Amino acid sequence: ADEITSAELETWLRASAAELKAHADELTALDSAIGDADHGTNMARGFVAVLDKLDAAGDDVPGIQPLLKSVGMTLISKVGGASGSLYGTLFLDMGKAAPAATEVSVTDFAAIVAAGVAGVVGRGHAVVGDKTMIDALDPAVTALTDAAASGASAAEATRAAAEAATLGRDSTEPLVARKGRASYLGERSAGHLDPGAASSAILLQTLADTLAG
Ligand code: ADP
Ligand code: MG
Ligand code: MG
Repeated sequence: ADEITSAELETWLRASAAELKAHADELTALDSAIGDADHGTNMARGFVAVLDKLDAAGDDVPGIQPLLKSVGMTLISKVGGASGSLYGTLFLDMGKAAPAATEVSVTDFAAIVAAGVAGVVGRGHAVVGDKTMIDALDPAVTALTDAAASGASAAEATRAAAEAATLGRDSTEPLVARKGRASYLGERSAGHLDPGAASSAILLQTLADTLAG
């Protein structure tokens, strides 16, 4: 089975910054329907800060643990709102579960992502069906873990995770929000995609695109 390297993860983070910027208006439009119209700008701003930090680090290839922890700390300090602490926790807890080494197996990577998502649940207490990023992240972890267990390549496993995240994002449309700002709307939150589930699907699609072929 193949390995996932910190250089590939850095490529993913850089591509994610570009994708989140390209989709910022769309994410903010989703948040304007059921929140406070800042999710696109929050994510784009956070990932610009991630890019700046990667650039400042120069050509040194960091281990997977310091790379992911640094992303987590940047997002916590630069992104306000719910998503800053939740995505910050995702990357910080992925980092805590990651090795100092510059590569990991697909199975170990699945465990790293699972630890990050468990951290988001520990902080935000959302379950699947609450209309949050967990609706995209939880099925992505299951797909990634199952694919890794059946010997899938990094490309195959992350593609399965991205597809699961996209279906999970779509599943949020009819739901009534039970967590976060959107929950203040009650029944009026139904009929819109959750912005955080949409940004999570973008991150996983970008990961699959990065590791494809
Ligand atoms: P804010 O709501 O503070 O303005 P954002 O708009 O950046 O922050 O992010 C909103 C997203 O955060 C929601 O769409 C949802 O996916 C996610 N979210 C909010 N609360 C929670 C929670 N308790 N658990 C998981 N995700 C949450
Ligand atoms: Mg918002
Ligand atoms: Mg806000």
